[in-house]
Amino acid sequence: MATYNRLPVTFTRGEGVWLWDTAGKRYLDALSGIAVCGLGHAHPAVQETLCEQAGNLIHTSNLYRIGAQETLGETLITLSGMDKAFFCNSGAEANEAAIKIARLYAHNQGIKDPAILVTESSFHGRTLATLSATGSRKVQAGFEPLVQGFVRVPYDDLEAVETAAANRPNITAILLEPIQGEGGINIPARDYLNRLRELCDRRGWLFMLDEIQTGMGRTGHLFSFQGNGIQPDVVTLAKGLGNGFPIGACLARGEAARVLGPGTHGTTFGGSPLACRVAQTVIETLQHKRLADHASRMGDFLLAGFQQTLGGIEGVAEVRGRGLMIGIELDRPSGDLVPQALEAGLLINVTAERVVRLLPPLIIERAEADLLLRELSLLIKRFLQAPADSTTPES
Ligand SMILES: *Cc1c(COP(=O)(O)O)cnc(C)c1O
Repeated sequence: MATYNRLPVTFTRGEGVWLWDTAGKRYLDALSGIAVCGLGHAHPAVQETLCEQAGNLIHTSNLYRIGAQETLGETLITLSGMDKAFFCNSGAEANEAAIKIARLYAHNQGIKDPAILVTESSFHGRTLATLSATGSRKVQAGFEPLVQGFVRVPYDDLEAVETAAANRPNITAILLEPIQGEGGINIPARDYLNRLRELCDRRGWLFMLDEIQTGMGRTGHLFSFQGNGIQPDVVTLAKGLGNGFPIGACLARGEAARVLGPGTHGTTFGGSPLACRVAQTVIETLQHKRLADHASRMGDFLLAGFQQTLGGIEGVAEVRGRGLMIGIELDRPSGDLVPQALEAGLLINVTAERVVRLLPPLIIERAEADLLLRELSLLIKRFLQAPADSTTPES
């Protein structure tokens, strides 16, 4: 089904930050399959684990104990400071688990119509509950009736949260991204998450972070919340967790970790020996190679570079980022840049219409970052000098 406007290119091989198409042309991948392939393409450790485990055991179902799932759960809770993990197959599913936890948590306290606070311009997935939580009319349009029980406030606005809290006694949780990805690389004030954590403590709300895009080292910490020195009650993961092998996780702590029990949630595929072995290898590689630190250094280099080449020039509204999550906001629709970059051998993305989004593999090296900086700066300058094209399609 035509659920995507695909670019006219097919890749047949990858290695590190590079992809090759059917004609043998090489591309620098500055998107990583949308923040998925943090270790780059065809990583030997991932390949080895996949092949070895596929030859041994792929799936048994959650009716039996799964050693690889228990190991991965231990690894994730140790590294994140959480208590329990539920494994699934995608980001939307991880958020579905979080939403169900929030509702059950409320019902256990006798709240019959609980609400979850969510933010404008957020993205949480494409299932009915997660698109209802998403702050984008484009994602929701045509799928009404939406799932009830979400209250929306502007992102990075503490006062709006206080007002909602005062007016809506049935709110029992807040779900948000530490940095909004699809929404345009929106980075909140330094203490926004810390203040929300305090508010959640005061109100007895669950503080639930969607780290599906920000997690797994991308922002310079294994989990973005670690940069704030705070601990959420629920964290959702997917994208970078399997480096391209589908896996999602919902981690929880304290009371939130205890509400789901036998019969209240489940999955046939989630947490298979194969998926968990791969994710375990991904995490071990991230940790062993200190790739979160590397992402932080490469991100600082790219951010400073783009600020120098593009900052202050006519048509560039802002260059912002944290780690290897970088946004270059222009003053006009910039979807046309994507095919232009493709032509030049660069894979980039434009989100929120005007924000060039870069999510390169965490293993990107200095020479590759240099090339990305040089080529993309040139492309953007040329794009801004060309006469405006009002027919730009929305991405
Ligand atoms: C991609 C994404 C999702 C959805 O993940 P899927 O695996 O596509 O279901 C949810 N939240 C955030 C922040 C994302 O970036």
